[in-house]
Amino acid sequence: MCDTKQNGWEKNVRKVIPYTPGEQPGNTKVIKLNTNENPYPPAPAVEEAMKNFPADILRLYPDPSVGKLTEALAEYYGLKKENVFVGVGSDDVLATAFLTFFNSKKPVFFPDITYSFYDVWAKLYQIPYECKPLDENFSIVKEDYLQENGGIIFPNPNAPTGVLQTVEFIEEIVKANQDVVVIIDEAYIDFGGESCLPLIHKYDNLLVVQTFSKSRSLAGLRIGFAMGNEKLISYLNDVKYSINSYTMNQPSIILGVESIKEDSYFKETIKKVVATRERSKEKLKELGFSFQDSYSNFIFATHKQRPAKELFEALKKKDIYVRYFNQERISDYLRITIGTDEEMDRLFEELKSILNQ
Ligand code: PMP
Repeated sequence: MCDTKQNGWEKNVRKVIPYTPGEQPGNTKVIKLNTNENPYPPAPAVEEAMKNFPADILRLYPDPSVGKLTEALAEYYGLKKENVFVGVGSDDVLATAFLTFFNSKKPVFFPDITYSFYDVWAKLYQIPYECKPLDENFSIVKEDYLQENGGIIFPNPNAPTGVLQTVEFIEEIVKANQDVVVIIDEAYIDFGGESCLPLIHKYDNLLVVQTFSKSRSLAGLRIGFAMGNEKLISYLNDVKYSINSYTMNQPSIILGVESIKEDSYFKETIKKVVATRERSKEKLKELGFSFQDSYSNFIFATHKQRPAKELFEALKKKDIYVRYFNQERISDYLRITIGTDEEMDRLFEELKSILNQ
């Protein structure tokens, strides 16, 4: 805002610096490698169902308990429906979880380099927090999470680094923190990591959050879900029903169920993304980039000679969008989402020319 004069009522406004999502250019010419979307379409069953639902389904409110989708997810993961909570993308699930579980005067812990929505929610809900620095290899330092705290959250694999921690590593943190809720944000787990989901049967303080936005190619549908002990899920529902009963729209519920049914397509798509990721690692190394090994659908890379910001801008001029974070410790890195083989080949070609190789 250019007007610096405050009106009287403004002193009572809850002022926040919002999260900045990656750009969504209207231009379809753009090769979009900036928001970790899946380059492949959703399952054919989703497209088929989309053609077939009548507009009349929109006349009534949707099922507030999101029953069909919750049941489908529970069955897929071998859980009871009481262990599953569905929300409008994992952002909605995570925001609700912050509000529900992080209600202590002690600080919530998360890494200094991580999903940049966490500190936004913490500030919005006035939750004290402390960022724990990742080590020089962008790994989480376990000992940092063994101190007194009001809750813990981190993504696994972490974002934007792509670095994966083992289930044993996570178990030690969950086990040592049974007086608080530990949230593991598994937005990217389907791309090769081992999920810590089995631990929810052993620890009632663990909440595992996943999404349909990446591995299921459904970012536009907005479906995220949390899995955990029945008590955790019931507390999440209490907060949800205190804000908005009808979070999930009817088409999303129907299409989400269709996506789960077509498991072979889901697994095939993941295989393709992983194969392209592994090939991209080799190509990026040849071009002079270095990075920690990634288990997600992106690579977080820095170049030996050229500043990341310069490469980001040069690629943008060529209609290739990657993500750049002007932030301490990572301002010389680019987060490159894995596209199709053809899209990645265009990226490598343009990088070669920008780098004069
Ligand atoms: N967690 C992490 C680590 C993410 O990178 C994202 C994607 N921006 C999300 C959660 C939220 O994804 P969605 O709301 O699309 O499920």
